[in-house]
Amino acid sequence: MNDNFLIAPSILSSDFLNLGDVLQTCQSAGADWIHVDVMDGQFVPNLTMGPFIVRHCRRGTDLPLDVHLMVEKPENLLEAFAKAGASHLTVHVETCPHLHRTLEDIKSLGCKAGVTLNPGTPASSIFPVLPFVDLVLVMSVDPGFSGGTYIPEMVGKVAEIRRRLDEIGSHAWLEVDGGISPQTLPEMKAAGATAFVSATSVFKHPGGIAAGIASLRNA
Ligand code: ZN
Repeated sequence: MNDNFLIAPSILSSDFLNLGDVLQTCQSAGADWIHVDVMDGQFVPNLTMGPFIVRHCRRGTDLPLDVHLMVEKPENLLEAFAKAGASHLTVHVETCPHLHRTLEDIKSLGCKAGVTLNPGTPASSIFPVLPFVDLVLVMSVDPGFSGGTYIPEMVGKVAEIRRRLDEIGSHAWLEVDGGISPQTLPEMKAAGATAFVSATSVFKHPGGIAAGIASLRNA
């Protein structure tokens, strides 16, 4: 961990032809986690990667693999992602009718358990499970594609969840995902976020990956 917040580059925007180099560069540039955006073409319109890619990421870096499951019926895939080497498994409240059970299943597989919610889903929808999670992920774009439009109203949602986590004495990470840049990171951090997913600001930075991570670190 560096400073007092974590940076989690999302490999969704990286050069998959050179994934091994990408992971090593992220690690040496001071990334804290590698964020893996899993999309199933059902819950979200895009189709990305599965346990196979996570297994290769596991070989390519020592960093925790922060796996974000944008899929229907995530409970059917938890074991496969855990076996592939996922460190954190984060599920959407919108996809989990038995959310508490799913979170307990994640922990029983030896992973950190995360919950996340879409921009249109109220913060209160996850309050009942906050005592049971290691990580809360707030979507600050509508999920589905890299480079979505940042929704500034989500700063208020981060602050609302921050207050609730503090009230219950939770030390869960509070992560934000979508449109995080040197311009948007400071307001999310001020609202109480402690971990920042970034795709475009890291992988499309004109100075390269290390410069992109540094720009966030110094934001
Ligand atoms: Zn994500």
